[in-house]
Amino acid sequence: MAQARPAPAAPEGDYDAEEGLAFETSKGIKVVTTFDDMRLKDLLMRGIYQFGFEKPSAIQQRAIIPIAEGRDVIAQAQSGTGKTSMIAVALCQRVDTTMREVQALILSPTRELAAQTSKTILAVGDFAKVSAHTCIGGTSLGEDMRKLEAGPHIVSGTPGRVFDMIKRRSLRTRAIATLVLDEADEMLNKGFKEQIYDVYRYLPPDTQVVLVSATLPHEVLEMTHKFMSEPLRVLVKRDELTLEGIKQFFVAVEREEWKFDTLCDLYDTLTITQAVIFCNTKRKVDWLTEKMRQNNFTVSSMHGDMPQKERDAIMQEFRGGTSRVLISTDVWARGLDVQQVSLVINYDVPNNRELYIHRIGRSGRYGRKGVAINFVRSDDIRILRDIEQYYSTQIDEMPMNVADLI
Ligand code: ADP
Ligand code: MG
Repeated sequence: MAQARPAPAAPEGDYDAEEGLAFETSKGIKVVTTFDDMRLKDLLMRGIYQFGFEKPSAIQQRAIIPIAEGRDVIAQAQSGTGKTSMIAVALCQRVDTTMREVQALILSPTRELAAQTSKTILAVGDFAKVSAHTCIGGTSLGEDMRKLEAGPHIVSGTPGRVFDMIKRRSLRTRAIATLVLDEADEMLNKGFKEQIYDVYRYLPPDTQVVLVSATLPHEVLEMTHKFMSEPLRVLVKRDELTLEGIKQFFVAVEREEWKFDTLCDLYDTLTITQAVIFCNTKRKVDWLTEKMRQNNFTVSSMHGDMPQKERDAIMQEFRGGTSRVLISTDVWARGLDVQQVSLVINYDVPNNRELYIHRIGRSGRYGRKGVAINFVRSDDIRILRDIEQYYSTQIDEMPMNVADLI
């Protein structure tokens, strides 16, 4: 098959001693180890330090500048290592705040992630006066249109509502210079791909494209030549993708019926800090929540069929720490950052390898310790062994003293 564009520069070996992580980095990417050396706008620097960032993470050291300079970039790094924050910083640097037009569009797979990213932009871009708008479903159309009328510099949203706003001409695309797909592999997956192309078609032809995710399977990298030009790449080998700081265990429950008691036995461990429990379906989330409550355990729960108001309230409680145990679907698997989460339970083993990485990555944020516990029925053991082998990682039987590891 003929390829329209030249192949990207072959990535080179690149080892970050501080984070102990290896990357494959395109020629042309420089490693800039301090925010000062990035020569960012003064007011942005102030915002970054005020927000509490002192030193850029490995991915930030490599990708902030190329993104801010307008290059097409494919950026992969382990969960919780500052990828989404990198998008926020780079775009704050890139936009011209004297212009009241949307200049950058970030698309995310969930409303909560889109909102979280806006918040980070508003925080680091506070002094630099960068405006951002969250454009997501489940909110008032009228208000969305009004906010977009004002011409925020950056829009962070989910594909459905963003496309709707573009078609209504409330979101004007003429000044958009950058499209970022956070959780890019999910955004280019079956469920979202069409919607992404719908949006992409409305953007100016020379729009910069940036793809970001912890997981970028081959199929995704292979299709990037269709909408990116000579992208710079920072990639992680798959045997480097699990973090040392997140300890992974399994409990052999044998049968489905035994999972519930296992979870109850672990409840005290769950509440040491905060925990997220993943089930594979919304119905199962509802069922488990109900059953836990019947047994006098305090739990919160969230999934995509809940009204947005309720989702917002749950998020607020969980972020604030008033609720400590959250039962959810994969709506919570990607991107969401609650630093206090140190334990993830896979009540159900996830349906694919990528989801596993993202789910366990809700713990162990930015170098913190984390623990992931998988409940495996006899017929799941094979799946878990596959995950273990695929990522060259180790998933041991849960020890008695697991609480000491949290
Ligand atoms: P990722 O998108 O890679 O999962 P995030 O951007 O969500 O990671 O960042 C994870 C956490 O680390 C967030 O709480 C964020 O505020 C924090 N963080 C990101 N970059 C830095 C930095 N340079 N210094 C300190 N904390 C950071
Ligand atoms: Mg992220």
